[in-house]
Amino acid sequence: ERQELGRLRRLSSRMASGEKIQLQANLELPGELPLIAQSGAAGIGLLRTEFLFINAETLPDEATQYEVYSGVVSAMGSDPTTIRVLDWGGEKQSDALAQVGFSGDGEDENPALGLRGIRLLLRHPALLEAQFAAILRAAAKGSVQILLPMVTLAGEIVVAREIYERVARRLKRKGIEIGDPLPPLGAMIETPAAALMAGTLARHVDFLAIGTNDLTMYTLAADRASAEVASLYDPLHPAVLTMISGVVTAALHERKPVSLCGEIAGDPRITPLLIGLGLRSLSMTASAVPRVKQVVRSSRYEDCHRLARRVLAETEKEDIRRLLEEFREN
Ligand code: PEP
Ligand code: MG
Repeated sequence: ERQELGRLRRLSSRMASGEKIQLQANLELPGELPLIAQSGAAGIGLLRTEFLFINAETLPDEATQYEVYSGVVSAMGSDPTTIRVLDWGGEKQSDALAQVGFSGDGEDENPALGLRGIRLLLRHPALLEAQFAAILRAAAKGSVQILLPMVTLAGEIVVAREIYERVARRLKRKGIEIGDPLPPLGAMIETPAAALMAGTLARHVDFLAIGTNDLTMYTLAADRASAEVASLYDPLHPAVLTMISGVVTAALHERKPVSLCGEIAGDPRITPLLIGLGLRSLSMTASAVPRVKQVVRSSRYEDCHRLARRVLAETEKEDIRRLLEEFREN
């Protein structure tokens, strides 16, 4: 079994019916890089930058961030790295951010609904400028994309893009080498507002990435970290699946690439459904890549599509699970 999974690393992630599915890894800590290399992932679909800020005593400056990002980008060679700007929020704490007087860590009565992600960055643009600059410089070392977290409004993307382009112009003027052309800028779709407006948002970005961890939480009003409502927190709830389906359709209509990077991207039982919903790019925990690839290689698109149609017609989570189970057994 281990050997079989090791062998998979070098095999393509093409379906039995021929379609290529992009399988990438999520990176939460730099220590995961060797694991990602071993997994056979085709790049990093989500680099969470929060680790740079967690437990930091001082804010990481542009130079510190550049060291980390350029190290990862170089290590990935020709494979792309999608770097998400700081998604500070809710349950996470940062001494560094608190020290310089940024709220969003304890001031909000309901942090998940408070100043987090892009909201915090736009409130403190210097933070976003330093991060954009570090990422733009790292992009000179390889293939990079940039993701904005917790978007609910097209206006947030517009302002972030203005800052992005201004930072790029400043670096160029100074003769500093940056990614050329500028790395694509994308938005996380992880709130119901963003999912329902995905077509509009897609017109303002170069790609979309569906974050089902938060999308599930906000759609079902069930905290992703709460044991009390763990049984309600279910990404297979028909409401969540309907949203995912709508986002994929909207992205295709706007001819913008769309990927999915929540935990369900790494669940091989759910892979046929996600492919059937139209996704061609999934980003997951590195250790999940071989098993998901196995499912991709043994599935036919037509069967996945039929499964997705049947799943979307169901109204009960139990019936959806049963359909996935049956698909696996056949
Ligand atoms: C998500 O919300 O699904 C996501 C990928 O982001 P995070 O888990 O970092 O909130
Ligand atoms: Mg999220």
